[in-house]
Amino acid sequence: MSNTNIRIAVQKSGRLSDDSLKLFKECGIKFESGGSKLRSISSNFPIEFLFLRDDDIPGYVEDGVADLGVIGLNVLEENRKEVEIVKELGFSKCRLSLAIPRNEVYTDLSYFEGKNIATSYPNLTNNFLKSKGITAHTHEISGSVEIAPSIGLAEGICDIVSTGGTLLSNGLKEVAEVFKSQAVLISNNSLTSEKKSILEKLTFRIDSVQRGQNAKYVVLNAEEKNLEKIIALLPGMKSPSRVPLAEKGWYSLHSVISENDFWEIIESLREAGAQGILVLPIEKMIL
Ligand code: ATP
Ligand code: MG
Repeated sequence: MSNTNIRIAVQKSGRLSDDSLKLFKECGIKFESGGSKLRSISSNFPIEFLFLRDDDIPGYVEDGVADLGVIGLNVLEENRKEVEIVKELGFSKCRLSLAIPRNEVYTDLSYFEGKNIATSYPNLTNNFLKSKGITAHTHEISGSVEIAPSIGLAEGICDIVSTGGTLLSNGLKEVAEVFKSQAVLISNNSLTSEKKSILEKLTFRIDSVQRGQNAKYVVLNAEEKNLEKIIALLPGMKSPSRVPLAEKGWYSLHSVISENDFWEIIESLREAGAQGILVLPIEKMIL
Protein backbone atom coordinates (compact mmCIF):
# COMPACT_ATOMS: atom_id res chain seq x y z
CA MET A 1 0.00 0.00 0.00
CA SER A 2 1.33 3.41 -0.91
CA ASN A 3 0.87 6.23 1.53
CA THR A 4 0.14 8.97 -1.00
CA ASN A 5 -2.62 11.34 0.00
CA ILE A 6 -4.55 13.53 -2.38
CA ARG A 7 -4.77 17.06 -1.07
CA ILE A 8 -8.02 18.99 -1.38
CA ALA A 9 -8.64 22.66 -0.64
CA VAL A 10 -12.08 23.59 0.69
CA GLN A 11 -13.44 26.89 2.00
CA LYS A 12 -12.75 27.36 5.69
CA SER A 13 -15.98 29.13 6.50
CA GLY A 14 -18.60 30.59 4.23
CA ARG A 15 -21.30 29.63 1.81
CA LEU A 16 -19.39 26.72 0.30
CA SER A 17 -18.01 25.14 3.43
CA ASP A 18 -20.95 23.38 5.13
CA ASP A 19 -22.14 21.61 1.98
CA SER A 20 -18.57 20.71 0.97
CA LEU A 21 -17.90 19.04 4.32
CA LYS A 22 -21.30 17.35 4.25
CA LEU A 23 -20.60 15.90 0.80
CA PHE A 24 -17.27 14.36 1.84
CA LYS A 25 -18.80 12.99 5.04
CA GLU A 26 -21.63 11.42 2.99
CA CYS A 27 -18.91 9.83 0.87
CA GLY A 28 -17.90 7.99 4.04
CA ILE A 29 -14.70 10.01 4.50
CA LYS A 30 -13.84 10.60 8.14
CA PHE A 31 -11.94 13.74 9.11
CA GLU A 32 -11.96 16.49 11.68
CA SER A 33 -13.07 20.00 10.80
CA GLY A 34 -14.12 23.22 12.44
CA GLY A 35 -12.54 25.47 15.02
CA SER A 36 -9.18 26.84 14.08
CA LYS A 37 -8.12 23.72 12.19
CA LEU A 38 -6.40 24.53 8.88
CA ARG A 39 -5.44 20.97 7.87
CA SER A 40 -6.90 17.57 8.50
CA ILE A 41 -5.92 14.11 7.32
CA SER A 42 -8.69 11.55 6.90
CA SER A 43 -8.44 8.42 9.01
CA ASN A 44 -10.08 6.15 6.42
CA PHE A 45 -9.42 7.61 2.93
CA PRO A 46 -6.12 8.81 1.39
CA ILE A 47 -7.05 12.49 1.48
CA GLU A 48 -5.83 15.58 3.27
CA PHE A 49 -8.05 18.65 3.65
CA LEU A 50 -6.77 22.23 3.61
CA PHE A 51 -9.22 24.84 4.92
CA LEU A 52 -8.70 28.17 3.09
CA ARG A 53 -10.31 31.41 1.89
CA ASP A 54 -12.21 30.54 -1.26
CA ASP A 55 -10.38 33.16 -3.39
CA ASP A 56 -7.06 31.34 -2.89
CA ILE A 57 -8.31 27.90 -3.89
CA PRO A 58 -8.04 28.05 -7.74
CA GLY A 59 -4.47 29.39 -7.53
CA TYR A 60 -3.37 26.71 -5.08
CA VAL A 61 -4.82 24.02 -7.35
CA GLU A 62 -3.14 25.53 -10.42
CA ASP A 63 0.23 25.58 -8.62
CA GLY A 64 -0.22 22.05 -7.31
CA VAL A 65 -0.08 23.09 -3.63
CA ALA A 66 -3.47 21.37 -3.56
CA ASP A 67 -4.44 18.61 -6.01
CA LEU A 68 -8.16 19.30 -5.82
CA GLY A 69 -10.44 22.10 -4.73
CA VAL A 70 -14.08 22.99 -4.23
CA ILE A 71 -14.91 26.44 -5.57
CA GLY A 72 -17.83 28.49 -6.89
CA LEU A 73 -17.85 28.59 -10.69
CA ASN A 74 -18.27 32.39 -10.42
CA VAL A 75 -14.89 32.79 -8.69
CA LEU A 76 -13.20 30.34 -11.06
CA GLU A 77 -14.51 31.97 -14.25
CA GLU A 78 -13.84 35.52 -13.07
CA ASN A 79 -10.17 34.79 -12.73
CA ARG A 80 -9.64 31.76 -14.93
CA LYS A 81 -6.76 29.56 -13.83
CA GLU A 82 -5.29 26.56 -15.62
CA VAL A 83 -7.21 23.88 -13.75
CA GLU A 84 -9.61 21.17 -14.79
CA ILE A 85 -13.27 21.16 -13.80
CA VAL A 86 -13.90 17.58 -12.67
CA LYS A 87 -17.58 17.85 -11.87
CA GLU A 88 -20.45 20.10 -10.86
CA LEU A 89 -21.42 19.55 -7.25
CA GLY A 90 -24.98 20.91 -7.30
CA PHE A 91 -24.78 23.12 -4.20
CA SER A 92 -24.05 26.83 -3.51
CA LYS A 93 -26.25 27.63 -6.48
CA CYS A 94 -26.50 31.33 -7.20
CA ARG A 95 -26.43 33.75 -10.09
CA LEU A 96 -24.49 36.86 -10.99
CA SER A 97 -27.03 39.50 -11.96
CA LEU A 98 -27.28 43.13 -12.96
CA ALA A 99 -29.44 45.24 -10.67
CA ILE A 100 -30.54 48.87 -10.63
CA PRO A 101 -32.46 51.14 -8.22
CA ARG A 102 -36.04 49.91 -7.87
CA ASN A 103 -37.69 53.13 -9.04
CA GLU A 104 -35.74 53.31 -12.34
CA VAL A 105 -37.55 52.41 -15.55
CA TYR A 106 -35.85 49.48 -17.30
CA THR A 107 -36.61 48.16 -20.75
CA ASP A 108 -33.53 46.28 -21.92
CA LEU A 109 -29.74 46.03 -21.61
CA SER A 110 -29.22 49.28 -23.52
CA TYR A 111 -30.03 50.88 -20.14
CA PHE A 112 -26.41 50.16 -19.19
CA GLU A 113 -24.84 51.86 -22.24
CA GLY A 114 -22.23 54.33 -20.95
CA LYS A 115 -23.23 53.71 -17.31
CA ASN A 116 -21.09 52.87 -14.27
CA ILE A 117 -21.51 49.43 -12.74
CA ALA A 118 -20.07 48.46 -9.38
CA THR A 119 -19.07 44.81 -9.08
CA SER A 120 -16.61 42.33 -7.62
CA TYR A 121 -16.77 40.49 -10.97
CA PRO A 122 -15.49 42.97 -13.60
CA ASN A 123 -14.39 40.29 -16.08
CA LEU A 124 -17.66 38.35 -16.12
CA THR A 125 -19.64 41.61 -16.22
CA ASN A 126 -17.59 43.13 -19.06
CA ASN A 127 -17.59 39.92 -21.11
CA PHE A 128 -21.35 39.65 -20.79
CA LEU A 129 -22.02 43.27 -21.76
CA LYS A 130 -19.52 43.12 -24.60
CA SER A 131 -21.20 40.01 -25.98
CA LYS A 132 -24.46 42.00 -26.03
CA GLY A 133 -22.84 44.98 -27.74
CA ILE A 134 -23.04 47.26 -24.69
CA THR A 135 -20.18 49.48 -23.52
CA ALA A 136 -20.30 50.25 -19.81
CA HIS A 137 -17.70 51.09 -17.16
CA THR A 138 -17.12 48.67 -14.34
CA HIS A 139 -15.85 49.76 -10.93
CA GLU A 140 -14.31 46.90 -9.06
CA ILE A 141 -15.13 46.82 -5.36
CA SER A 142 -14.56 43.87 -3.11
CA GLY A 143 -17.70 43.87 -0.99
CA SER A 144 -20.94 45.63 0.04
CA VAL A 145 -21.62 46.17 -3.65
CA GLU A 146 -25.35 46.79 -3.06
CA ILE A 147 -24.64 50.11 -1.43
CA ALA A 148 -22.92 51.61 -4.52
CA PRO A 149 -25.98 53.17 -6.24
CA SER A 150 -27.28 54.85 -3.08
CA ILE A 151 -23.92 56.52 -2.37
CA GLY A 152 -23.51 57.68 -5.95
CA LEU A 153 -20.63 55.38 -6.89
CA ALA A 154 -22.46 53.71 -9.77
CA GLU A 155 -25.84 53.60 -11.48
CA GLY A 156 -26.09 49.84 -11.33
CA ILE A 157 -24.41 46.80 -9.80
CA CYS A 158 -23.52 43.29 -10.86
CA ASP A 159 -23.52 40.94 -7.92
CA ILE A 160 -24.28 37.45 -6.63
CA VAL A 161 -27.95 36.80 -5.99
CA SER A 162 -29.67 33.73 -4.63
CA THR A 163 -33.11 34.80 -3.38
CA GLY A 164 -32.97 38.51 -4.18
CA GLY A 165 -33.67 39.47 -0.55
CA THR A 166 -30.48 41.52 -0.14
CA LEU A 167 -31.19 43.48 -3.33
CA LEU A 168 -34.71 44.23 -2.19
CA SER A 169 -33.63 45.46 1.21
CA ASN A 170 -31.18 47.83 -0.50
CA GLY A 171 -33.83 49.30 -2.79
CA LEU A 172 -32.58 47.48 -5.91
CA LYS A 173 -34.21 45.26 -8.51
CA GLU A 174 -32.61 42.48 -10.54
CA VAL A 175 -32.90 43.17 -14.28
CA ALA A 176 -30.63 40.68 -16.09
CA GLU A 177 -28.81 37.43 -15.33
CA VAL A 178 -25.15 37.45 -16.31
CA PHE A 179 -23.87 34.08 -15.10
CA LYS A 180 -25.25 30.96 -13.37
CA SER A 181 -23.03 29.44 -10.71
CA GLN A 182 -22.70 26.43 -8.46
CA ALA A 183 -19.90 24.71 -6.59
CA VAL A 184 -17.52 22.65 -8.74
CA LEU A 185 -14.75 20.18 -7.98
CA ILE A 186 -11.52 21.24 -9.70
CA SER A 187 -8.25 19.42 -10.12
CA ASN A 188 -4.64 20.22 -10.96
CA ASN A 189 -3.86 19.56 -14.63
CA SER A 190 -1.02 17.14 -14.05
CA LEU A 191 -1.96 14.70 -11.30
CA THR A 192 0.25 11.64 -10.91
CA SER A 193 -1.38 8.36 -11.88
CA GLU A 194 -1.57 7.42 -8.21
CA LYS A 195 -3.49 10.60 -7.42
CA LYS A 196 -5.68 10.13 -10.49
CA SER A 197 -6.77 6.76 -9.18
CA ILE A 198 -7.62 8.27 -5.77
CA LEU A 199 -9.63 10.97 -7.58
CA GLU A 200 -11.52 8.25 -9.49
CA LYS A 201 -12.47 6.57 -6.21
CA LEU A 202 -13.61 9.91 -4.85
CA THR A 203 -15.74 10.83 -7.89
CA PHE A 204 -17.28 7.33 -7.88
CA ARG A 205 -18.44 7.99 -4.30
CA ILE A 206 -19.64 11.51 -5.13
CA ASP A 207 -21.65 10.17 -8.10
CA SER A 208 -23.32 7.58 -5.86
CA VAL A 209 -24.24 10.18 -3.24
CA GLN A 210 -25.57 12.58 -5.91
CA ARG A 211 -27.67 9.89 -7.58
CA GLY A 212 -29.16 9.05 -4.18
CA GLN A 213 -30.02 12.68 -3.56
CA ASN A 214 -31.86 12.93 -6.86
CA ALA A 215 -33.87 9.79 -6.30
CA LYS A 216 -36.57 8.44 -3.99
CA TYR A 217 -37.43 4.88 -3.11
CA VAL A 218 -41.16 4.28 -3.59
CA VAL A 219 -43.19 1.38 -2.18
CA LEU A 220 -46.89 1.03 -3.03
CA ASN A 221 -49.72 -1.46 -3.05
CA ALA A 222 -51.77 -2.30 -6.11
CA GLU A 223 -54.49 -4.64 -7.19
CA GLU A 224 -53.55 -7.15 -9.90
CA LYS A 225 -55.84 -5.54 -12.49
CA ASN A 226 -53.97 -2.20 -12.14
CA LEU A 227 -50.43 -3.61 -12.15
CA GLU A 228 -49.65 -3.13 -15.81
CA LYS A 229 -50.68 0.53 -15.87
CA ILE A 230 -48.73 1.27 -12.67
CA ILE A 231 -45.58 -0.59 -13.75
CA ALA A 232 -45.55 1.49 -16.94
CA LEU A 233 -45.27 4.60 -14.75
CA LEU A 234 -42.38 3.27 -12.67
CA PRO A 235 -39.00 3.24 -14.38
CA GLY A 236 -36.94 1.77 -11.50
CA MET A 237 -33.23 0.98 -11.76
CA LYS A 238 -34.00 -2.05 -13.96
CA SER A 239 -37.70 -2.62 -13.52
CA PRO A 240 -39.81 -2.41 -10.36
CA SER A 241 -39.85 -5.33 -7.90
CA ARG A 242 -43.23 -7.02 -7.55
CA VAL A 243 -44.00 -8.81 -4.28
CA PRO A 244 -47.32 -10.59 -3.64
CA LEU A 245 -49.16 -9.46 -0.51
CA ALA A 246 -50.79 -11.86 1.95
CA GLU A 247 -54.14 -10.75 0.54
CA LYS A 248 -54.86 -12.55 -2.74
CA GLY A 249 -54.88 -10.42 -5.89
CA TRP A 250 -52.76 -7.66 -4.29
CA TYR A 251 -49.10 -6.78 -4.84
CA SER A 252 -46.50 -4.46 -3.44
CA LEU A 253 -44.33 -2.65 -5.99
CA HIS A 254 -40.90 -1.21 -5.13
CA SER A 255 -39.13 1.27 -7.36
CA VAL A 256 -36.88 4.33 -7.63
CA ILE A 257 -38.09 7.61 -9.06
CA SER A 258 -36.31 10.83 -9.79
CA GLU A 259 -36.81 13.89 -7.59
CA ASN A 260 -37.43 16.02 -10.70
CA ASP A 261 -40.69 14.44 -11.78
CA PHE A 262 -41.62 13.18 -8.33
CA TRP A 263 -45.03 14.86 -7.81
CA GLU A 264 -46.18 14.24 -11.35
CA ILE A 265 -45.46 10.52 -11.05
CA ILE A 266 -47.09 10.27 -7.61
CA GLU A 267 -50.28 11.86 -8.97
CA SER A 268 -50.36 9.54 -11.98
CA LEU A 269 -49.74 6.54 -9.70
CA ARG A 270 -52.74 7.42 -7.54
CA GLU A 271 -54.92 7.88 -10.61
CA ALA A 272 -53.80 4.45 -11.83
CA GLY A 273 -54.96 2.87 -8.56
CA ALA A 274 -51.82 2.82 -6.39
CA GLN A 275 -52.54 2.76 -2.65
CA GLY A 276 -50.53 3.14 0.57
CA ILE A 277 -47.66 4.88 -1.22
CA LEU A 278 -44.49 5.15 0.90
CA VAL A 279 -41.65 7.43 -0.21
CA LEU A 280 -38.21 6.94 1.36
CA PRO A 281 -34.94 8.82 0.95
CA ILE A 282 -32.02 6.97 -0.66
CA GLU A 283 -28.64 7.39 0.97
CA LYS A 284 -26.48 6.11 -1.88
CA MET A 285 -27.10 4.56 -5.25
CA ILE A 286 -24.42 2.31 -6.74
CA LEU A 287 -24.86 1.43 -10.40
P1 ATP B 1 -14.07 33.73 1.94
O1 ATP B 1 -14.05 34.28 3.29
O2 ATP B 1 -13.71 32.26 1.91
O3 ATP B 1 -13.30 34.54 0.91
P2 ATP B 1 -16.41 34.84 0.62
O4 ATP B 1 -17.00 35.83 1.55
O5 ATP B 1 -15.59 35.29 -0.53
O6 ATP B 1 -15.61 33.75 1.47
P3 ATP B 1 -18.97 33.44 0.47
O7 ATP B 1 -19.94 34.55 0.69
O8 ATP B 1 -18.78 32.45 1.55
O9 ATP B 1 -17.56 33.97 -0.05
O10 ATP B 1 -19.44 32.70 -0.86
C1 ATP B 1 -18.69 31.66 -1.41
C2 ATP B 1 -19.35 31.21 -2.69
O11 ATP B 1 -20.65 30.71 -2.41
C3 ATP B 1 -19.59 32.31 -3.72
O12 ATP B 1 -18.44 32.56 -4.50
C4 ATP B 1 -20.71 31.73 -4.55
O13 ATP B 1 -20.22 30.77 -5.46
C5 ATP B 1 -21.53 31.03 -3.49
N1 ATP B 1 -22.60 31.90 -2.97
C6 ATP B 1 -22.52 33.21 -2.66
N2 ATP B 1 -23.67 33.69 -2.20
C7 ATP B 1 -24.52 32.66 -2.23
C8 ATP B 1 -25.87 32.52 -1.84
N3 ATP B 1 -26.57 33.53 -1.37
N4 ATP B 1 -26.43 31.30 -1.95
C9 ATP B 1 -25.72 30.26 -2.42
N5 ATP B 1 -24.43 30.35 -2.80
C10 ATP B 1 -23.84 31.52 -2.71
MG1 MG C 1 -13.75 35.04 -0.94
